[in-house]
Amino acid sequence: MADALLGPAEIRELAARLGVAPTKKLGQNFLHDPNTIRRIVAAAGLRPDDVALEVGPGLGSLTLGLVGVVRHVHAVEIDAKLAAALPDTVPSAHLTVHPADALRLRAADLDPAPTMLVANLPYNVAVPVVLHLLAELPALRGGLVMVQKEVADRLTAGPGSKVYGVPSVKLAWYAEAKPAGKVPPAVFWPVPNVDSGLVAFTRRDPPADLDRAAVFAVVDAAFAQRRKTLRAALAGWAGGPDRAEQVLRAAGVSPQARGEALTVGEFAAIAAAAKLSGPGGKLSASARQQEEVDS
Ligand code: SAM
Repeated sequence: MADALLGPAEIRELAARLGVAPTKKLGQNFLHDPNTIRRIVAAAGLRPDDVALEVGPGLGSLTLGLVGVVRHVHAVEIDAKLAAALPDTVPSAHLTVHPADALRLRAADLDPAPTMLVANLPYNVAVPVVLHLLAELPALRGGLVMVQKEVADRLTAGPGSKVYGVPSVKLAWYAEAKPAGKVPPAVFWPVPNVDSGLVAFTRRDPPADLDRAAVFAVVDAAFAQRRKTLRAALAGWAGGPDRAEQVLRAAGVSPQARGEALTVGEFAAIAAAAKLSGPGGKLSASARQQEEVDS
């Protein structure tokens, strides 16, 4: 960690010198509290041989906290003016600045490959950024991100929680996530009108050896109508409520259950059952026989 972190006076002075007027569109709320930076870096559980990926370094508050702690830092910033100024604020041979949109990052853009995502994320794109990076960067072993508190709650919720939904299940596909604390608005400039929360996640093997897109299609369908039973909610996806029921029973999931009660493993079981019972699948033959017996 650099000796001097940025406090309120430095942040204001830096922004004035660069002519930066923070925009809501890019989620620009800059950290000006060294204690919060130290807290984030400590909570991230970084190792000296880690390669950190920071999305949205902004004026460099967190970047200063990361250099020297890890082997290398990649900082990806969409705002060209901020990206250009970063090497002056954080002079380090172990920093690569990428003036780019994090949602378009590819593994080949980042050498050495990042192992940890540590970021105060732009709140409007936080969930898609985390999911995109987990899908795109296989070497990413985990991360610590700051997001809007409600989003932190959603990302770390489990089945049965009121806020459990698509982001919770999709993140659970890749990683185990847990809340890592709350951050008050006062540590940012400008002060946002929401609380922030930290989310720590550790990658794990996916719950099934299945096409991720096929599982995510079930998740999207189940939560598009979260008040409905799965039999009804998955009707469009399956090709009718009867077919949805057949797939659900084959997966060992009650057709009367709702998506909000299912683990990511159960969503995977539904996708697997649909695959088995699809054209050429084993189940389709037995299901056809059953239909013939029934009729
Ligand atoms: N890390 C800095 C801090 O803590 O002070 C700034 C965090 S600020 C919440 C979010 C940053 O993400 C801004 O600098 C913004 O320009 C940048 N940003 C917004 N959308 C982005 C995107 N799609 N890709 C990369 N950076 C983005």
